[in-house]
Amino acid sequence: SDDRPDPLLDGLNPQQRAAVESRAQALLIVAGAGSGKTSVLTRRIARMLRDRELWPSQILAITFTNKAAGEMRERVGHLIGRDAAEGMWISTFHSACVRILRREAQQFGFTQAFTIYDSADSRALIKRIVKDLQADTMGLTVSAASGKISKLKNELVDVEGYSRQINPNDPAEVMFLEIFRRYTQELTRANAFDFDDLIAQTVYLFRAFPQVAALYQRRFRHVLVDEYQDTNHAQYALIRELTRPVDPVHVPADTRIETDASGGIPSAALTVVGDSDQSIYAFRGADIRNIVEFERDFSNAEVILLEQNYRSTQTILDAANAVIGNNFDRIAKNLFTEVGAGERIVGFTGYSQHDEAQFVADEIQKLHEAGTPYNQIAVFYRTNAQTRALEEIFIRSALPYRVLGGTKFYERAEIKDVMAYLIAVANPADGLALRRILNTPKRGIGPATETALAMHADELGGVMRDALRDAAALGLGPKVTGAMLELARILDEATATIDTASVPDVLTGILEKTKYVDLLRASRDPQDEARAENVDELVAVTREFQRNNPEGRLIEFLTEVALVAAADDLDDSSGTVSLMTLHTAKGLEYDAVFITGVEENLLPHQMSASEPGGPAEERRLFYVGITRARQRLHLSLAMTRSTFGETQVAAPSRYLQEIPTELIDWRDSPGMGMRSSPGAQRAVGGGRREEFGYKTSLPPGKPKTEWANRVTATVRDNGDLTLVAGDRIRHVDFGEGRVSAITGQGPKSIAEVQFDTAGRKRLLIKIAPIEKL
Ligand code: ATP
Ligand code: MG
Repeated sequence: SDDRPDPLLDGLNPQQRAAVESRAQALLIVAGAGSGKTSVLTRRIARMLRDRELWPSQILAITFTNKAAGEMRERVGHLIGRDAAEGMWISTFHSACVRILRREAQQFGFTQAFTIYDSADSRALIKRIVKDLQADTMGLTVSAASGKISKLKNELVDVEGYSRQINPNDPAEVMFLEIFRRYTQELTRANAFDFDDLIAQTVYLFRAFPQVAALYQRRFRHVLVDEYQDTNHAQYALIRELTRPVDPVHVPADTRIETDASGGIPSAALTVVGDSDQSIYAFRGADIRNIVEFERDFSNAEVILLEQNYRSTQTILDAANAVIGNNFDRIAKNLFTEVGAGERIVGFTGYSQHDEAQFVADEIQKLHEAGTPYNQIAVFYRTNAQTRALEEIFIRSALPYRVLGGTKFYERAEIKDVMAYLIAVANPADGLALRRILNTPKRGIGPATETALAMHADELGGVMRDALRDAAALGLGPKVTGAMLELARILDEATATIDTASVPDVLTGILEKTKYVDLLRASRDPQDEARAENVDELVAVTREFQRNNPEGRLIEFLTEVALVAAADDLDDSSGTVSLMTLHTAKGLEYDAVFITGVEENLLPHQMSASEPGGPAEERRLFYVGITRARQRLHLSLAMTRSTFGETQVAAPSRYLQEIPTELIDWRDSPGMGMRSSPGAQRAVGGGRREEFGYKTSLPPGKPKTEWANRVTATVRDNGDLTLVAGDRIRHVDFGEGRVSAITGQGPKSIAEVQFDTAGRKRLLIKIAPIEKL
């Protein structure tokens, strides 16, 4: 109505503006990386709130990680004021479903205090079932069973549904069905959901209880989904449920609600944004078809394309476009930018992963000295195992860094122990948690007692905690009986306080009564001191939680911990370099990016070779990595890489050949043959480091000669050394040993060596620092 510029539309290009302003019931925004999809979503929300088209509580926005949710909330708050944004649901699918399930779980036999099993928990449960059923004799491994269960849940196939699909004459299928059935029963009995359940059970809830569904269909007037290309079928179904027209039958008569012209209650509006070139979760059931078929599923959908990239330099975009152009079956789109050509991409080939890590550390120092803050630098890798070499060098170089993928802390045994106490306190039905802590710390409750308890639990209705309380009935010795009753008392007392006590109080109370930390501190095992510190750290985490959520109680804390997704970290990111997997990098951006290990078998990962569409998905992953960079991109690889004591020759990734040569400035040696032909196979080893002209700054604290000797030793070329089984050899690090077998051929021959003191190792003969005796 007036001509004043709208600050929420300021600086947007016409397509972005259209996307922010669109009034379509269903809007699909498809666009390449860095074109402003997430920004548009954020402004769209801000505009609806500012113009009072909706209340914050009527908006549900779904992001891929909790971190992304936090950022979006922050930005909306920044645009229109924190208060105006209060009450919005901005969260991951999982978090949104937990919120819904916490409110509604009692509708179908769970309590509000249900436990969320992470993948380790659910594997532990499946392992027990597989063992009980002796299913491994039929070739059903724990990972196969857990993978299949997860897949079925993502496809919304429950036990019933599966039983109708299988061939009843196939014993393996029948056995798997039995595992699936028991697993489901045990979860229900434990008042627990696994990760996939969070989504699937919410869908079932909505389908089974239309009046509950109607509640949420009415409540959310607008649903927005970021990274839509990575939704799986269950998530898609959830969106469908939430955006169905509300059935007036389920609306209480005295409720005032808006109706449309025809007197009906319109369904919630839906906005989804995505990029099929960034779909990297097919292995978790993500279904690209969700994007392709959006227009069919949501009639009258409006589709908006964004083509201008605002993130990266033209050089980086050219590389990204070239790489992704090798995937066929895609809708061609070409991103452009006005940022300018920028610097060339830096390539580096190291001798080993240590050499590569040293390059990364050196370059980071240079960037930092030239003014790039540490928190604008990220290092990506395909597998978690790659962090070790990086971390070693970073620590020695005193580079501030952190590893994103915060689950690590919660995977430690001592943390899982203490968390199991908290879970057992919050959810007395959870037998898995109770089993974990029965004899931790040691109190004389052995496996036989555990079995007796489990059997007694079955008699009492299935809950192990009831059996524990009734331990006297087992007729065991006074000492072990006393220990069980004591544990039951500690847990019951704590359970009685969870609605009133603060989380740190609950936790420290348990630690005192069980003497968990005291025992660690008294131990002579040097590792135990570190474990005690980790538990202290967990106490600190609860304090921080309580500060941020003064009203928060144990269940909220457990929910938060359970949902700490890959990209989340409890620390703040100021002033540190970020290390993360390529999967975690999605949606993020940094001034300078290092992609490490750009090698065959890592990128593409060797596992992908056997899967249909695997290499194409890996290429998308590489594309995601490249497009995170704003100004500078570094691609590095190592000629040899050792994992678990085995050294393998690494070959440059096929994807490197797909990047136009002139875009990359190879910083490594001319002798490696990489300068002109990135994908060329190179000879391994072949001489000493100095010949290649790359100078690395020596790690501080390492005498120059020792380091140099080591490097020389590591990359020596044994030429035509031929070994046969039975030969005795000497290795620089492992001493003497006997060759037990030779596998592989030519330069890839591997000797299996039984060392006299160092155990068995597999060595690449050509380059291993060995001599024949
Ligand atoms: P991805 O596919 O990686 O998730 P995206 O499409 O969500 O990327 P955004 O993260 O929203 O892209 O935007 C990329 C960068 O471009 C951000 O730094 C954002 O602030 C900036 N940006 C987006 N639109 C504009 C614009 N019109 N003018 C200036 N900068 C913009
Ligand atoms: Mg985005």
